[in-house]
Amino acid sequence: MLTGAKTFITNGGLADLVIVAAKTDPTQGAQGVSLFVVETADLPGFRRGRLLDKIGLKAQDTAELFFDEVRIPAGNLLGPAQGQGFVQLMQQLPQERLIIAVTAIAGAERAIELTVQYVKERTAFGKPVMSFQNTRFTLAELATKAAVTRAFVDSCIERHLAGQLDVGSAAMAKWWSTQVACEIIDECVQLFGGYGYMTEYPIARMYADARVSKIFGGTNEIMKELISRFL
Ligand SMILES: Cc1cc2nc3c(=O)[nH]c(=O)nc-3n(C[C@H](O)[C@H](O)[C@H](O)COP(=O)(O)OP(=O)(O)OC[C@H]3O[C@@H](n4cnc5c(N)ncnc54)[C@H](O)[C@@H]3O)c2cc1C
Repeated sequence: MLTGAKTFITNGGLADLVIVAAKTDPTQGAQGVSLFVVETADLPGFRRGRLLDKIGLKAQDTAELFFDEVRIPAGNLLGPAQGQGFVQLMQQLPQERLIIAVTAIAGAERAIELTVQYVKERTAFGKPVMSFQNTRFTLAELATKAAVTRAFVDSCIERHLAGQLDVGSAAMAKWWSTQVACEIIDECVQLFGGYGYMTEYPIARMYADARVSKIFGGTNEIMKELISRFL
């Protein structure tokens, strides 16, 4: 029987199959966590909260899920035995963190592309914004940061494909690329001037969308905790 709630769940408003991490033995700490596959359609005791109003990622729903004495078949335990949930999460979370890193660096690269196009077209004081040394130096720095970050993320992808991506490297990829992406996109907004703050411009939406990447998938502070355990 499952009882509890989880506040922020991506696709929680739509999902009809969810994986719940539940405490099956509260006395055992991490060894007392198990994963269950839960089919939510017409499930007594299961309820979704409202769709949460986010500052970005407007196309993706985020909802609360509530479980009130929800009965599920014993066969819906994920894995061979209870108590394996924490280990299962540790095995799978590096992939989620790598996905966040890839999304972050891809977004940053796109932001730079959009900004280069814009500053070549936009004129100020009779000259293209690209002609100002500040613009060129800023973009040179952003392109360098993006390229260096991309190289590390690509090396993590190669290791992941070989089944060798370790927890610490995935955490490094996640915190670093999301931090760098937010810095890059912020500078790009600046180069767009006032239009950079208007949601009809993709760069403004990218700015709002990117911010949460430092928070979800485990906050960047938690990533640093993880990395420090392997030092
Ligand atoms: C849009 C969105 C979608 C999400 N989707 C999902 C999802 O699909 N599934 C899911 O399971 N979760 C999801 N989450 C939850 C997300 O992973 C958590 O919000 C995140 O891990 C932070 O947890 P918290 O909100 O409880 O913050 P808190 O833990 O309350 O953190 C608050 C602050 O304290 C800091 N902090 C906390 N503990 C420590 C520590 N030990 N050392 C140093 N600093 C610390 C944090 O880094 C943060 O800065 C989503 C969140 C958002 C916003």
